[in-house]
Amino acid sequence: MKHFHKISLTALLMAVLPLVAQALPFEPTSDPNASTTKWYYLIINNLYVQGAEQYFGSTPYYATSLGSAPSGTPVDQWCFVNDGTGKYKAFNRKYKKYLCDDGYLESEINHETSVYYRERTSDTFYLLRSYNSDGATVILNLYYDAEENALMSEATTGNVLHGYFSVQYADQGGDDPNPGPTWTRHDKYGVGYRIIDGGQGAFENESTDKLCDNDASTKYYGTVANCWVTIEASEPVAVSQYSIVTANDTHTYPNRNLRSWWLAGSNDNQEFIVIDRVVDYPNIPFTNQEEVVFRPQLNSTDKFRYFRFQCAEGASGNVQLSEIWINEQPHSWLLPETTQPTCGVHGTQVSKCAECNALNYYYIPPTDNHTYVDGVCSVCGKAENVTILLDNGQVNPYRVKYQFRYRNDDQTWPDAPDESWNTPNFDDTQWNYLTMPTASVGHTGGPYTSLMYNSHWYGEYNCYWMRRPFHLDRVDPTATYTLRYVHDDNLWVYVNGQEVLHADGWSNLPNNGTWETGHEETVIPASAFRAGDNVLAIYIQQNWGGAYFDCELRAETTSTGVRGDVTGDGKVDIADVNAVINMMLGKASPTAAGDVTSDGKVDIADVNAVINIMLGKR
Ligand SMILES: [Zn+2]
Ligand SMILES: [Zn+2]
Repeated sequence: MKHFHKISLTALLMAVLPLVAQALPFEPTSDPNASTTKWYYLIINNLYVQGAEQYFGSTPYYATSLGSAPSGTPVDQWCFVNDGTGKYKAFNRKYKKYLCDDGYLESEINHETSVYYRERTSDTFYLLRSYNSDGATVILNLYYDAEENALMSEATTGNVLHGYFSVQYADQGGDDPNPGPTWTRHDKYGVGYRIIDGGQGAFENESTDKLCDNDASTKYYGTVANCWVTIEASEPVAVSQYSIVTANDTHTYPNRNLRSWWLAGSNDNQEFIVIDRVVDYPNIPFTNQEEVVFRPQLNSTDKFRYFRFQCAEGASGNVQLSEIWINEQPHSWLLPETTQPTCGVHGTQVSKCAECNALNYYYIPPTDNHTYVDGVCSVCGKAENVTILLDNGQVNPYRVKYQFRYRNDDQTWPDAPDESWNTPNFDDTQWNYLTMPTASVGHTGGPYTSLMYNSHWYGEYNCYWMRRPFHLDRVDPTATYTLRYVHDDNLWVYVNGQEVLHADGWSNLPNNGTWETGHEETVIPASAFRAGDNVLAIYIQQNWGGAYFDCELRAETTSTGVRGDVTGDGKVDIADVNAVINMMLGKASPTAAGDVTSDGKVDIADVNAVINIMLGKR
């Protein structure tokens, strides 16, 4: 034992407790809810830590979990639960939580107001307070040492001992005379939350009591008007962020997503001050149990004890969501389930939070590693001579940076957010992301029925500015650059600030048209592009009725589709080798087909490339 300091009351307790071999200095329980459970206070005295005197000094400090307990108030009672393997977990009476999760501990170790417990070895435990002193994290350890049969304490920074503290623990037993409310959810900093009032859901088991139960697999489903709750916090808090979590079947019913809402705070549950108001939010995910974080625009500094969340509008009809969370949620993500990408279709990683069942989605880009047979990928159908610079969103969702505005009045549309909004160097870090394609609710009805969309475009007489950056190593002047698009309504497209398309109205898709059969397309001159960073910028207006947008940018390097077929006779043979040699030697004019390596010139590398294709070595 390196450093330890015996607890002052150990001897006293040893006298009180039955003196048997290996007797513990506390009475463990197997069930914290049992009426016979013994509860203890853990009181830290006389701590001296270099640089931390002002915080601890000789003031008794009640060991607390996950946040601050009122000074000197015996609200933090603990019991020690035998887990059946000879280990003891500390269970907090107030928060009804075990402090035994190493993953949680690691994520929180620098948060200065928390005390933690974790198992140290198979037969010891300790409480830990991390406290940031002069840039170093001071750790207070309180642990049970089986060899000494005593509670031990020490304060360390890394492996350096900084001081000692003494611990009393007091047997309280029996019922808590003032148990207080049960908080159904705790934020990352230990503040508790519970719902004290709310509207009725369409079904008894899908009502607003599910909105703060820390379980994203249960939801509210019902009318917009009844989608409201009053949440009480265990102490007044400022809202630095709040979350809406989608329901367990949102992927099937994205038109039940919330569209507009407000959040307000109060300290008397009478008068409320609006903290945030959101109108026509397009980007509630179409995925299940996914958390969306919002930062309040109106008030993020005043502290409130009560919060009112009210949905003001749904995407259509009834609405659903699984959770409303005030401030940051402490997640414990499990290992993800992975679907591997293919050459043309993205993969996914989905992790679940072990605590709250929220799901976290991560998309793995397509590998772009195609299997060409006669110039066409046998897996995804992409032609070998085509490079996709910007994919459409029919299979692989993508994100754009965007701005959204309503029309000023009956006649005038708003100005662009900035003169340079459509140029590569424009700083769009203040713009938000929109998941694409986007469409008005239900716009896949009718002729657009087979088109995909991943966000909602609400309202009429409004417009979007969007930016899609991409990179070109070089511009091939012989390539054909094509923009493919489906638009509803009026569309303007720019490449690096230069207007390359203006199309009014909407794409007139054939009934049951697909992206392949229904898109429009236009050729963009190669001179619009440049080596390095480029941006495709889109301005699109919604007038009335449906709204939709998706686009794709591709470069096609030859028209025959058979790489190496320089003579255009449909096969790659010695005639093609000779044709390239003649171009290289200046005996014939170089062609795009002769530039097999697509590097802008015809040279010995192209001869080698044709030979390798001919020999099947490509
Ligand atoms: Zn969670
Ligand atoms: Zn492929």
